Amino acid sequence: MIESFEAERKRQRARRKWDHVGAVQVQTATVRAMKYRKGMHEVASGIWAYLQPDGGWGWSNAGLITDGDRSLLVDTLFDLKLTADMLATMRRTTPAAKNIDTLVNTHANGDHWYGNSLVEGAEIVASASAAAEMLELSPAGFAQLMKSAPDMGETGAFLMRIFGSFDFEGIDVALPNRTFSDGLDLTVGDRRVSLIEVGPAHTAGDVVVHLPDERVIFTGDILFHGGHPIVWAGPVSNWIAACDRILALDPVLVVPGHGPVARPAAVADLRGYFEYLTVEARRRFDTGMSAADAARDIDLGPYSGWSEDERVVVNVGCLYREFGAETPSDAGSPLDNMAAWAGER
Ligand SMILES: [Zn+2]
Repeated sequence: MIESFEAERKRQRARRKWDHVGAVQVQTATVRAMKYRKGMHEVASGIWAYLQPDGGWGWSNAGLITDGDRSLLVDTLFDLKLTADMLATMRRTTPAAKNIDTLVNTHANGDHWYGNSLVEGAEIVASASAAAEMLELSPAGFAQLMKSAPDMGETGAFLMRIFGSFDFEGIDVALPNRTFSDGLDLTVGDRRVSLIEVGPAHTAGDVVVHLPDERVIFTGDILFHGGHPIVWAGPVSNWIAACDRILALDPVLVVPGHGPVARPAAVADLRGYFEYLTVEARRRFDTGMSAADAARDIDLGPYSGWSEDERVVVNVGCLYREFGAETPSDAGSPLDNMAAWAGER
């Protein structure tokens, strides 16, 4: 079930199921040739993924949807320099990126919106839940956290390791100025773009961006391709439902929030991961094992090759709360628990 991107590409070469459809033929050929390199990848005519290997903590993807001189940007990046570089690359790629009409933030984590202030004049769209959560995750607060990191012991060292290469100083906040719940249909020129709220799952207000005519979906962090997901909000059952909704849209390509461009099989794998983790966590919960011990005890099996495995401790903790566990008084924060996990390896 779990395949590397290379194996997936090989399989695509062998399978030409969609090749009779013109637009899809282009996409299939594109994915076949696509490598996981930093920068722009045209996933359909006039539609690009902007990828940032290695897709780990903070290294998020974005997207550009154009038609004629109209454009919609899916997400900005974690800091101003990365976002400025991305916008410059987009402008070199297509004149439609000169003035971006609409910016969609898929959710409230900073690696998807801290660069918003550089997209001047754009209408900024997010779910109402994501917009509310952004107020709690300000770049100034994040900058302060990183300044405190040297005094935070193991957790601080973990923070420095995962976020130390980003610059959170001096970021002006540009929040969404148009919000919605459930869904919102937009157009970019003549192109149809549907925003679908699938959260709470990864965060409080996750949105996926669906291009029904091109059968492309920008998933935000509903899909980490090649890495463990992290359940900041949950419930996990809602994340499984989000996978089902994506699969029901029958996309040809999915652009994940992190990692290389994927086929829908990657979404099915993620669904399987959550089902597996739910069963394994429940089994241990029923025997009275602690969440922290359960996270260490579960054999990750087919998912052991995924990166950022410290996230398992957060995901199991979230499942335990869903099962009705009380949070023990000595339980650390998610960051503390991941730092401890990472420190043991
Ligand atoms: Zn992210």
